[in-house]
Amino acid sequence: MSDTATNPSNRMAGSPSRPAIVCENLVKIYKVADLEAIALQGLDLVVEPAEFVAIVGASGSGKSTLLSILGGLDVPSAGAARVGGFDLLQMRPPERTRYRRDVVGFVTQQTSRNLIPYLTATENVEVPLRLAGRSGRERRRLAHSLLDQVGLGDRLDHRPRELSGGEQQRVAIAVAVANQPEVVLADEPTGELDSATAAGVIDVFRSLADDHGVTVVVVTHDQELSTRVDRTVAIRDGRTSSEVVRRAVTGDAGDTRVVAEEFAVLDRVGRLQLPAEYVDALELDRRVRLALRPDRINVFPDRIAPSPAPASGAAPASASGAGSGSDALTRARRARALHRRGAPGSSPGGNAGSPPGHDPGGHPDPGPDGSSDDPTPEVAP
Ligand code: ADP
Ligand code: MG
Repeated sequence: MSDTATNPSNRMAGSPSRPAIVCENLVKIYKVADLEAIALQGLDLVVEPAEFVAIVGASGSGKSTLLSILGGLDVPSAGAARVGGFDLLQMRPPERTRYRRDVVGFVTQQTSRNLIPYLTATENVEVPLRLAGRSGRERRRLAHSLLDQVGLGDRLDHRPRELSGGEQQRVAIAVAVANQPEVVLADEPTGELDSATAAGVIDVFRSLADDHGVTVVVVTHDQELSTRVDRTVAIRDGRTSSEVVRRAVTGDAGDTRVVAEEFAVLDRVGRLQLPAEYVDALELDRRVRLALRPDRINVFPDRIAPSPAPASGAAPASASGAGSGSDALTRARRARALHRRGAPGSSPGGNAGSPPGHDPGGHPDPGPDGSSDDPTPEVAP
């Protein structure tokens, strides 16, 4: 968006290091009659300013619940959620109104629900500007400028029914960013659009983040959208389970390409979700054995009996965390210290495009000191 129309970076100038969004152990329980539905169960999420993040997950995993909490439309049951310096659990009604008007912009999937049907595109964009107390002349100028920037300069006086789905979504984005929000949230914004139209909408979000410093969080099933974001966060059963991070790397020849790496998410108390396909592949059930290695943790099915641990290794321990050998801890700490100093053979081992936790070299494989350190039996599912 342009200079005066939207320049959220001004708002953020005083606090460059503060994340735009922080959710910690977020819980949302819906009560319907006597039944409770736990939509979010201890979700953790941090989004940095100007980051463009996609949220993906199966239907019913809690994506829309998360977005309506972040949008100030719904109140969490427990945990912590802060957006743009606002505490979403403690906000009182006047603050909530200000938050929804000034800090976040919201776009829903149903194109028709984002806009007032009897108002023109310009008048729709003017609604939030009017609520923010802008004068009539200023409102019109800003509305035209915003519509121009989403490519609708020639549709200013069209009503929603006179616009295509993609055009309506672009008006909705102009409405959502009219008051220069720090954060724009969109729930399946391209869900009702064909791929060419969706691409135009994605361009608008990308530009909001890149050119205007807006933090953008989009719930999506759209594969194309997923490849255009900085990070894709997967939600499973109301918790974040894995992340794909994309970054540009420059090759030796000066060529630039985007590398995607997938990670499992570790929460503050050390919990992680194993990918469902891994759990199925090894028929893991209820508990697993863990074995600490200098540079990794191995996970074994409960039914695989541990072999006797060598003097310097760790005996496979139960998932309760008991029984990790202190030798193994010492070796792991030593390996980590070497890694920090950048010792040879201690590469971080990025595994682009692999599933989370995928071991590119198979196992057992040499530890950082070059020795095979795996005392445990082969895992034969
Ligand atoms: P998603 O957007 O990932 O499909 P939702 O956040 O809409 O998932 O829903 C997560 C869970 O919470 C589902 O089991 C859903 O049935 C339940 N849920 C969502 N909204 C409500 C509500 N207003 N009342 C009761 N249950 C709800
Ligand atoms: Mg949903």
